Amino acid sequence: MTAITDNLETKNRDYAATFDKGHLALPPAKKYLVLTCMDARIDPAAAIGIDLGDAHIIRNAGASAKDALRSIVISQQLLGTREILLIKHTDCGMLTFENKDAYALVEKSLGTQAVEDLKSKNLDFLPFPLLEPAVQDDVEFLKGSPLIPEDVPISGWVYEVETGRVKKIV
Ligand SMILES: [Zn+2]
Repeated sequence: MTAITDNLETKNRDYAATFDKGHLALPPAKKYLVLTCMDARIDPAAAIGIDLGDAHIIRNAGASAKDALRSIVISQQLLGTREILLIKHTDCGMLTFENKDAYALVEKSLGTQAVEDLKSKNLDFLPFPLLEPAVQDDVEFLKGSPLIPEDVPISGWVYEVETGRVKKIV
């Protein structure tokens, strides 16, 4: 046990004690999905008004559409979501490095075998140097993908971690 697992158990006991949403259906009630970053400062449900059971929230490093494609297809084809909100954010960690930096860090902390593994997979960490162009690029990527139906509305946003506000980009 760690302090983190202790926290999990304590807080979950409190949560479950008053939980009354066990009747919700599997498909999201409002039929949309949100793709955002894993950044610890973003609370999507609170920030953009998502009630439990309403939407899928897909998170990864940088809110990468390419990285999320598997989950997006599952969300749409198996569980009926029909709109996509893509939300990147200010001060994102993905703005701070390039692939070569990540490869060097892996080699330094995990060793040669680890970095060889990355190279063999040709793994792209999908960093981006500019925020708003990255939102536009990812929206374009989704709109151009044969895996996303053409009539699905796709919008791109920036969440400001400094103010809690969202701004529409595309
Ligand atoms: Zn981020």
